[in-house]
Amino acid sequence: MSSVMPHPRSGRSDGEPPAAAAASLVRVDGVSKAYRAGNVETRVLRDVRLALARGETASLTGVSGSGKSTLLSLLAGLMVPESGEVVFDGQDIVALDDVGRARLRAGHIGVVLQSGNLIPFLTAAENVEMAIKLGGGDRPGERARELLAEVGLADRLDHRPRRLSGGEAQRASVAMALANQPDLLLADEVTGELDSASAERVMATIFGASRDHGLTVLYVTHNDELAARAERRLRLVDGGVARA
Ligand code: ADP
Ligand code: MG
Repeated sequence: MSSVMPHPRSGRSDGEPPAAAAASLVRVDGVSKAYRAGNVETRVLRDVRLALARGETASLTGVSGSGKSTLLSLLAGLMVPESGEVVFDGQDIVALDDVGRARLRAGHIGVVLQSGNLIPFLTAAENVEMAIKLGGGDRPGERARELLAEVGLADRLDHRPRRLSGGEAQRASVAMALANQPDLLLADEVTGELDSASAERVMATIFGASRDHGLTVLYVTHNDELAARAERRLRLVDGGVARA
């Protein structure tokens, strides 16, 4: 870890050395989030503090309903917290409008949602190609094929999502999330539906991107063995992030 990095403007985050916080790519501080349905309020996150260093890989576990997907959505700027800061590369993303957050996401953040993110009327190759074109990348057709081959879908290029298995669709979603060489990948239970060989392949692609391009990764998993492969293991308990 570099010790020459300047200290960040504000404090530290739980359980991390100051150097990691100083080099953080993304951090949340004092973040709280509740959902309201009629009179019922479900408080999901309470005063959460978390920082991810550049190039770091972290896994996130926690029981169903503990708020893992909510935390990923906040980090992706897909929703904003009621209170607290979400800072990406020095920029307060809560202060941006929806267009600003969408732009930030398109340029810097790859997200694989639990529900998948493929457009149903485009083939696997067209989905990835579209993501590359939106990010202004070169050789979209060729790169889409390369990325899909990396996740083991070289022979599924022309399949639309409904003709992909759940696991294949998840792998195509990972290829799409990596299409624009993001700085941050947020992956929500992407290996949940995969057999172990496919899960290995997807994790190898993700860890390879971290090693080769300094991708910062936060992935949610229920598999302890996969969680243990991250440099840092986190767990959501009682609305807060703890070391797993
Ligand atoms: P996890 O991913 O850990 O299973 P989630 O972040 O999806 O947890 O959900 C945390 C809690 O918030 C759950 O109790 C869930 O039912 C509730 N929740 C999630 N999304 C919504 C929503 N849009 N409206 C109301 N409640 C929600
Ligand atoms: Mg979830």
